[in-house]
Amino acid sequence: MYNELNTSTRILMGPGPSDAHPRVLKAMSTPLIGHLDPEFVRIMDEVKSMVQETFITKNHLTFVVSAPGSAGMETCLVNLLEPRDEVIIAVNGVFGSRMVDIAERCGAIVHKIEVEWGTVVSSKDIKNILDDCPKPKLVALVHAETSTGALQPIKEISDLVHNAGALLMVDAVTSYCGVELKVDEWNIDAIYTGTQKCLSAPPGLSPVSFSDRAVKVLEDRKTKVQSWFLDLSLVKNYWGGAKRAYHHTAPVSSVYALHESLRIVIEEGLENRWKRHQEIHQILKMKLESLGFRYLVNEEYRLPNLNSVFLPEGNDEAMIRSKLLNDYNIEVGGGLGDFAGKIWRIGIMGESCTRNHVNMLISALQDMKEFKN
Ligand SMILES: *Cc1c(COP(=O)(O)O)cnc(C)c1O
Repeated sequence: MYNELNTSTRILMGPGPSDAHPRVLKAMSTPLIGHLDPEFVRIMDEVKSMVQETFITKNHLTFVVSAPGSAGMETCLVNLLEPRDEVIIAVNGVFGSRMVDIAERCGAIVHKIEVEWGTVVSSKDIKNILDDCPKPKLVALVHAETSTGALQPIKEISDLVHNAGALLMVDAVTSYCGVELKVDEWNIDAIYTGTQKCLSAPPGLSPVSFSDRAVKVLEDRKTKVQSWFLDLSLVKNYWGGAKRAYHHTAPVSSVYALHESLRIVIEEGLENRWKRHQEIHQILKMKLESLGFRYLVNEEYRLPNLNSVFLPEGNDEAMIRSKLLNDYNIEVGGGLGDFAGKIWRIGIMGESCTRNHVNMLISALQDMKEFKN
């Protein structure tokens, strides 16, 4: 016989998923209804409107891709790019590299701005690459690079991108509902996010939004989008059209969860939520530093909700991390790429961003005799 699901009660302080609010878990157990049921259509409309509100955008083409954040990334790129298009992509961690891979699969000519992991791209870096590639179709950046904990300034770069006639595309998977993000004010043309980071919903959905400028580019395509499932010209009527037509079957329970998590964000207020992440980050930082942890990212560009830190000298990070999980039920993330085995990535996202989470982590470390500070 197979065992009943019987998972431990974990405290999620890694790079995602974060802890879900009980209201969100409860929403997922709401009975299923048909995805074309007028009641479900109303739920989808509300989700769309709450996504617009939390992205701070009036973009009509705003909806939710029925797959995780990576599919949001792929949706933006496969729809906006055609073979031989020139694109500039900033690479300062794992997710920038992933965008490059997808753009190359679209047949685009990719110009990379590569900067050291843990740092961000400056206006000067953008100006320099525009000298080599003066007329890109698209410039793509990761707002919150979860592999390093760096927060990329977007607003400062937006004018440079638009003056070159390009679209600005942003990965906001980890920044959305955790740090300041203003889609219309910053003139972002294509944006995608995920549900399992600062939104504290289960993984598996990806809210996206496109400006009118981006929509014009979609309408002017000469070739078919290489992906049937992600082709916006087909899926957009499912989330927006006057008459809802079958495209695929929306993951009903996940949409319930997203609906409830967005209601929670709006009840708290975006600004309050940004402030809470900053305040809890300051408390965590003080305590981590007093235990001998050192931050990877310069303070100026440090992401509050994903803390990348070097352990104090003489600690076996993998052993301590697994003891934290097995003996204390606390999950933190390990490093990726060059930082594998070197850093921890401590997430304080959404429901996992509380004083109690910080205290649980710090007191577990103080309690553990293997941890040397
Ligand atoms: C998590 C993450 C993704 C991918 O999201 P999935 O839901 O894991 O597919 C993309 N970009 C960034 C910056 C992320 O942190």
